[in-house]
Amino acid sequence: MGVRVGTEERIADEILIVGAGVVGASVAYHLTRSGHRRVTVLDARDRARLPGSTGLAPGFVGQLSATPELTVLARDSVATYRTLAGTTPEPVFHQVGCLEVATDPARLEQAHRDVEQGTRAGLPARVLGPAEAAALAPALVDADRALGALYLPTDGAADPAALTHALVEAATNGGARFRFDTPVRALEIENGRVVGVRAGADGELLRAGRTVLATGIWGPVLAARAGARLPMVAVQHPYLYTAELPGLDDTPIDGPIVRYPDHAVYTRRHGRRYGLGSYAHQPLPLTPSATLGSAELPFRETDFGTALAEATALVPAFRTAPRGRRLNGAFALTPDELPLVGPAPGVAGLWCAEASWVTHAAGVGRQLADQLLSGGAPLVDPERLAPDRFADWSDERISSTALGHYRGIYDAH
Ligand SMILES: Cc1cc2nc3c(=O)[nH]c(=O)nc-3n(C[C@H](O)[C@H](O)[C@H](O)COP(=O)(O)OP(=O)(O)OC[C@H]3O[C@@H](n4cnc5c(N)ncnc54)[C@H](O)[C@@H]3O)c2cc1C
Repeated sequence: MGVRVGTEERIADEILIVGAGVVGASVAYHLTRSGHRRVTVLDARDRARLPGSTGLAPGFVGQLSATPELTVLARDSVATYRTLAGTTPEPVFHQVGCLEVATDPARLEQAHRDVEQGTRAGLPARVLGPAEAAALAPALVDADRALGALYLPTDGAADPAALTHALVEAATNGGARFRFDTPVRALEIENGRVVGVRAGADGELLRAGRTVLATGIWGPVLAARAGARLPMVAVQHPYLYTAELPGLDDTPIDGPIVRYPDHAVYTRRHGRRYGLGSYAHQPLPLTPSATLGSAELPFRETDFGTALAEATALVPAFRTAPRGRRLNGAFALTPDELPLVGPAPGVAGLWCAEASWVTHAAGVGRQLADQLLSGGAPLVDPERLAPDRFADWSDERISSTALGHYRGIYDAH
């Protein structure tokens, strides 16, 4: 006869994840891949739609960073996305490469240094001349304006929604339980320890040994209820699509993603449309509340109009194309650009997988799953991602330092 596992023991073993965006789904995926089946993921969203940042992101995945830990997390994520891409009917990741276009001589010199940095990090990279760069992405690179480009052939573009659905499905197959339409109202605290959550319309108590916050920009909302401060700030960001264009078919993407680091602009094809985003505006912080149901906010011309006008003048495909949807979406930043992964500051039983990009989400999922299961060697030194690493910083310093990184977000150095 098998040994009956008592209720107490089962609860202690249970890991509850709040948030089923790309990050929460990645944590569940890696936990179940490591053989842990007692995983429940709760999200206020319905199964099909992604109202958080993941559902708004155009999915640029660039691996080279001046912060080596970000490169490690991104490389690991790309490996997972490639594995998933081979198992799903919908493409979740396209390894189309990335061009970082230089329009001034200093940036071109930097591109040469980045080749060395990429090589040291195990990322193939080379510098292309203007004509070669424009030949790879004629709609996105103007050979007369470019001085050259850094080419990173192993970067690419994810479909964040399809990717998240694939992670949810794989985690479900591995034994995780997803409960959608289930908002978490509060963390349940006993003797100073988080022992689960109150969820759903009736405030049902769900107990667990460990509770993980993977709630994106809403991270600080629940954490604050347990007296924990998460050192992150939500920031607003514009993205613009062209209308559907007659010359384009449903092929999701047919050339590299393109960045203009010296203009803080990035652009890619999305099937029948092109899209671009710009960081060349004043950073606009946001304080999310429990009642904010989506990471999409009203688009204000006064905030983003000039930045988008300059960006559309830079990218050939946008110069004459009719405009389509434009959006203002929020995502989270930290003072050192690294995500918050590990035990929440000062509250037992509460863990975080917060302030991660799609680019790093699967690496973050693996890192936290390893920590929760006391698995093998972590991808990254846990101290570098520890959510309490800014414990002695004021809120003001956290916010201003994090916002200070906004414009240079795509800078590899
Ligand atoms: C316009 C835009 C462009 C971007 N471009 C890129 C890009 O090109 N590349 C890239 O890597 N990243 C990009 N990002 C950033 C990226 O989208 C996010 O960093 C990432 O998606 C965060 O994922 P997440 O799972 O942490 O958060 P989310 O996707 O926001 O998921 C959080 C989930 O938590 C749920 N939730 C919150 N509170 C509760 C609660 N109390 N109870 C139950 N559920 C709750 C929400 O419903 C949501 O589903 C972009 C973001 C935006 C907005």
